[in-house]
Amino acid sequence: MTQHPDFSPIREKLVEFRRHLHSIPEIGLSEIKTPAFIAEQLESWGYTVHRKIATTGLVASLERGRPRKAIGFRADFDALPITEETGLPYASQHPGTMHACGHDGHTTMLLGAAWALAQDRAFKGTVHFIFQPAEENLGGAKLMIDDGLFARFPCQRIFALHNLPGLEVGQFASRAGAIAASIDVVTIVVKGRGGHGALPETTIDPVVVGSSIVMALQTLVSRNVSPHERSVVTVGSFRAGSAANIIPDVAVLNVSMRTTNADVRAELQRRIEDVATFQARSFKAEVGFTWEVGYPATINAAAEVDRAAASISRHFGSDAFTRLDAPMMFSEDFSFMLERVPGAYILIGNGDSSGLHSATYDFNDGILERGAALFYHLAKDANGPGDGSAEVA
Ligand SMILES: [Zn+2]
Ligand SMILES: [Zn+2]
Repeated sequence: MTQHPDFSPIREKLVEFRRHLHSIPEIGLSEIKTPAFIAEQLESWGYTVHRKIATTGLVASLERGRPRKAIGFRADFDALPITEETGLPYASQHPGTMHACGHDGHTTMLLGAAWALAQDRAFKGTVHFIFQPAEENLGGAKLMIDDGLFARFPCQRIFALHNLPGLEVGQFASRAGAIAASIDVVTIVVKGRGGHGALPETTIDPVVVGSSIVMALQTLVSRNVSPHERSVVTVGSFRAGSAANIIPDVAVLNVSMRTTNADVRAELQRRIEDVATFQARSFKAEVGFTWEVGYPATINAAAEVDRAAASISRHFGSDAFTRLDAPMMFSEDFSFMLERVPGAYILIGNGDSSGLHSATYDFNDGILERGAALFYHLAKDANGPGDGSAEVA
């Protein structure tokens, strides 16, 4: 049977770390206390910490034995602009900011792994521990890559863990191919010609044009995308006008678009513009588009999912890993790292908790050691028997 690392010397500390991080949540790219705290722990265990990658990101590396294939582990550490309502003793001390996505837990699990691997004198290999800022909306993963992450710390494979409420406590889950969706947002400005509500024939009514665009956009997924693909087009906001008897000049639509396939994503981006443009033209109106291009779909490498699944069943039992039938429809900027380096994004069950991004959510401290142990085993197994780099000096 497998030997998990002995976390007993830092068992209570891990919970303390997580709760401390929970109490000092910071929004992406303005993280100060969080990276300082992470660096302090890593340095106390003998790591050299490389700071200020993409403003607030950190990397610490463990290099033992002859240079060999390096494995990368990524944890995100930013929080969300949410007012916490958990009432917990370690709740946010920063008003309006909250760790509502469990990044405090992801960071603590990776710290636990860094501690365990540093303690393990038998470990040979190279591990890059990547602590990433600004996962929520700001694309910290891409910023770290653009700031030379993989040039400075080349990885042959890379893994990340994210907790999932509703999945059984500590259960691991993932799938080959798409595991999370892409996200893009487009603002469509419909330019008509306003006027008196009693004289519609003298106007170009952007409310009618916008309504027609909303309805036409509903056909994109149903008539342009294969039923085997998953995608969503949502008009989340439609603003126009100020009074019942005035036809306004403009209407503004905010549209979000999610897919799990790069080709479908490109096709939907084109079709949204086409559909809106030709709808507008049929009413003699004009449209303009402002895109906020978000994260690509998160695509796991099949071989790396198999590798992780094998490690999980070897060390945690054959039932500990669930192969998901379908991707999650949330988005994740680890996608940018997986575009550069083969790897896998793995979910770990947070149990029956409030959902992610909810004001009553909390990370489950009961899974801290288990997540840390998974990183530990992935590092050991990547450098152990069966891998080409097993010839330990
Ligand atoms: Zn989130
Ligand atoms: Zn998250």
